[in-house]
Amino acid sequence: MEAPTLGGVRLPRGSGEIVRLPRGASLTDFAEKIDAMPAELVKVLIGLGEMVTATQSIDDDTLTLLGTELNYDVQVVSPEDEDRELLESFDLEFGGHEGDDADLQIRPPVVTVMGHVDHGKTKLLDAIRSTNVVSDEAGGITQHIGAYQVITNTSAGADRAITFIDTPGHEAFTAMRARGAEVTDISILVVAADDGVKPQTIEALNHAQAADVPIVVAVNKVDKEGADPAKVRGQLTEYGLVAEEYGGDTMFVDVSAKQGMGIEELLEAVLLTADAALDLRANPDQDAQGVAIEAHLDRGRGPVATVLVQRGTLRPGDSIVAGDAFGRVRAMLDDDGKAVEEAGPSMPVQVLGLTSVPGAGDSFMVVAEDRVARQIAQTRQARERNALLARNRVKRSLEDFLESLEKGEVSELNLIIKGDVSGSVEALEDALLKIDVGDEVSLRVIHRGVGAINKNDVTLASASKAVIIGFNVRPEGKVAELAAEEGVDVRYYSVIYQAIEEVEAALRGMLKPEYEEVQLGTAEVREVFKSSKFGTIAGCMVQSGEVKRNAKARLIRDGAVVAENLSLAGLRRFKDDVTEVREGFECGINLGNFQDIKVDDVIETFEMREIPRKA
Ligand code: GDP
Repeated sequence: MEAPTLGGVRLPRGSGEIVRLPRGASLTDFAEKIDAMPAELVKVLIGLGEMVTATQSIDDDTLTLLGTELNYDVQVVSPEDEDRELLESFDLEFGGHEGDDADLQIRPPVVTVMGHVDHGKTKLLDAIRSTNVVSDEAGGITQHIGAYQVITNTSAGADRAITFIDTPGHEAFTAMRARGAEVTDISILVVAADDGVKPQTIEALNHAQAADVPIVVAVNKVDKEGADPAKVRGQLTEYGLVAEEYGGDTMFVDVSAKQGMGIEELLEAVLLTADAALDLRANPDQDAQGVAIEAHLDRGRGPVATVLVQRGTLRPGDSIVAGDAFGRVRAMLDDDGKAVEEAGPSMPVQVLGLTSVPGAGDSFMVVAEDRVARQIAQTRQARERNALLARNRVKRSLEDFLESLEKGEVSELNLIIKGDVSGSVEALEDALLKIDVGDEVSLRVIHRGVGAINKNDVTLASASKAVIIGFNVRPEGKVAELAAEEGVDVRYYSVIYQAIEEVEAALRGMLKPEYEEVQLGTAEVREVFKSSKFGTIAGCMVQSGEVKRNAKARLIRDGAVVAENLSLAGLRRFKDDVTEVREGFECGINLGNFQDIKVDDVIETFEMREIPRKA
């Protein structure tokens, strides 16, 4: 068989071999794998209509396309898989086999405090910490290192530890989850008894539920006049948190962070919830692994990272790699600034000795040799650079959901619904949840709320691989950009059935063609005439583009849309009916039945065009 050619270049064809490429690989990487010249691949891609340079990062689809063209079976390896393989090449595994049942010992729960702003999260974290100052060994200086541990004496008589992540709020929680770090075992949801359930209360609750983390409710500020703890219990029932005393399984504890009241009870509730809902055990006798929860560069001490040990025991002298940072533990400090010699499961410590600063949420592990730590860190650094370049091209969209569905990778579509009024959000959610397409796929609404799509929605979507549905709402400030960066699919609707149709289509595995609005032109109203035959006619000047008869239109007055779904029923120049009028020309426009046109209004015209779908 004759070798196929393209523009005179012989194609480096394979015969179906598997080529594994990291996400964000370049043509040079590809060429190296198949022993070809990068320039040849550049030409092939140009032949396919893609202009890329040899060293530029290529998105998954293009890599696969190129593979198909050259008869290679390209497999794009995700960063997670790549990392697992990287560790395996050193005979390491993160979160892997922890030994036999007998090796596992009970570990303290790790708790995050969440809730609405000003409901007392910070105050509560302070109160918990100060009721628990280990008084026998005073002298340490209390420091904020990102987490602390308290020992509490339970009514059963045993001393038990609880670890608190002391960055309040769900931003920290979600940011870490977005990086794949599941740190929190239990969430304390703080609700001020004088203020009740507020939007961020619900947001926090949704975050915890999306992560399958059990919740203990701290009803705070019960010392205040007007405090109504029973009302808080009633309100939360609507969100599925039913207090034990009402027959549910969520523990509610009345506290006053200000007066230090109810703190012991709260700690006990955390332990009881942990015992009832979770099996918190880890093997302390293995090389330490865990997560970096906070890190910064200290002028005197160099990179300082607070790590939470999740399994094993960390000691000074250990070689560690944390994300793309590495080093040897020079010293470990607890939250009183005191040196510690050992940190076991669920223990947070500040670690000195890293050569650079890891990111919050990066996993860390102890390895046998400094050399191994360095190699892993450097490989990750290189990969991070590549991934960053390719990142903008990675998308998580309804289409991708379809693809994963076909491959059998997912069976659940996560949605975040934001709308203009709570009635429409509820209506939409109800309708969406009623979609029934059989047992294989299901739909989960992980968050719903009223108002513009904000940063938190995008972070949550990114962490939970969710699609955001905006009903009559738009993204705040720079949120659209953030969503694009994070590869989060945001869909806007103003008609409920349309949203339902698309989501249902996605679940059924068949999305209808998508349309996008293409601006045609705008015309400014200079004069308004009434005609007995045609109704209101707007004498206009076309200011940009062109206006076409029968095009869709909307009317803008003082920058705000005053009428949608209009159509250019009539278009005239002088006495003639015309089909289009270009920029700089005057014309008469008739918007059919719509009569409310005023001088200085702007008529914006557009067409709906089908967006070509990926094959
Ligand atoms: P955060 O935004 O949730 O971290 O709330 P803060 O902890 O900063 O508390 C907000 C305000 O509520 C502060 O002025 C606190 O002093 C006050 N506060 C917090 N807890 C209590 C409480 O139990 N009782 C009373 N009366 N005030 C409280």
